[in-house]
Amino acid sequence: MQKTIAVIRGDGIGPEIVDQALLVLDRIAALYGHEFTYLDVDMGGCAIDKWGDPLPPAMLETCLASHSVLLGAVGGPKWNHVPGPMRPEKGLLRLRAGMEVYSNNRPAKIWPQLACASPLKPEIVDKGIDFLIVRELTGGIYFGRHETVTENGQQVALDELRYSEEEIRRIGRIGFETARKRSRKLCSVEKSNVLDSSRLWKKVMHQLAEEYPDVTLTDMLVDNCAMQIVKDPSQFDVIVTENMFGDILSDEASMITGSIGMIPSSSLGDTTRGLYEPIHGSAPDIAGKDVANPIGTILAAAMMLRYSFDMPREADAIESAVSAVLSQGCRTADILPPQTAGCTLVGCREMGRLILDNLKKG
Ligand code: NAD
Repeated sequence: MQKTIAVIRGDGIGPEIVDQALLVLDRIAALYGHEFTYLDVDMGGCAIDKWGDPLPPAMLETCLASHSVLLGAVGGPKWNHVPGPMRPEKGLLRLRAGMEVYSNNRPAKIWPQLACASPLKPEIVDKGIDFLIVRELTGGIYFGRHETVTENGQQVALDELRYSEEEIRRIGRIGFETARKRSRKLCSVEKSNVLDSSRLWKKVMHQLAEEYPDVTLTDMLVDNCAMQIVKDPSQFDVIVTENMFGDILSDEASMITGSIGMIPSSSLGDTTRGLYEPIHGSAPDIAGKDVANPIGTILAAAMMLRYSFDMPREADAIESAVSAVLSQGCRTADILPPQTAGCTLVGCREMGRLILDNLKKG
């Protein structure tokens, strides 16, 4: 298969971690007979320095002309003084808007080799943690009317929470389609005992369920879900939820799995073209030192193969290689346990090389 990938190295550790992910993609191409063409895109602080704009229009066009986008991270203290609309992070918001990605998908997976990094009790972690949160990204309370007025001499603030049937339906479909690619279990999370928007959410999810008879749909109230994620996360496979609930639950979920350097994410819309990135930022404190963990970005590349390019075997091969390297005890500094017996500290490039060494055609 031939695929064009827009590559945004960005700022800080971005270039270091993306380079390792591209080496992994090159090896996948060689093993499975694919051809990946990379288009370099400047976004963030480096684009401000070069073009005076965190995402020049031509760069967005390049992303829109690609089959998918792989991003490292953007931002850093160098650009903190830049005025609001020209800040590096604005480039990312404009990219998401331009690509019309309304679904953010974040896996919460514990690697058994890193189980001690989880704040949960071993008996909970031992049951396994491997689920994915599909979060609506462009609607709900974050995008409603925000207003602060004065009434009877005191300030009153209002934030509007709106969802249309169509907004719910399109994110619901991503939830069902994602569940189909995993264990066919979908949990819809809402607050239908209180909120009208949640009652509509639940109704639309159940209408959709009729189109996906092979997927088992369950409902859960968001407060219960927050408890269940720490009590028994092994019960979940795919969770679909609205913007604010997803924001909160996905941070909770990433915390229980250990390190920020290990977690990838994808953002998708109506097409198969997605935006794939690690969940962490540009880590300016460790940039250029060859100590960053490239695994989150490498796993983001694997997600791109699985969800945008329909290459599940290739994605499995990358995840198996990561697992093998962790089993060999190789760790970047962020995932090195305090008792280092049996573990070897490696840098960013060495971690990439070890993953390549373990990459086998499945
Ligand atoms: P951060 O995620 O960059 O770093 C937080 C901590 O985690 C730091 O100690 C860092 O060294 C560590 N860390 C992060 N990624 C790591 C990795 N792969 N390997 C090892 N350690 C890692 O968050 P921050 O410091 O709050 O933000 C730094 C910059 O990144 C800011 O300018 C922020 O706006 C930007 N940011 C960008 C994105 C994005 O591009 N999607 C996301 C979040 C933050």
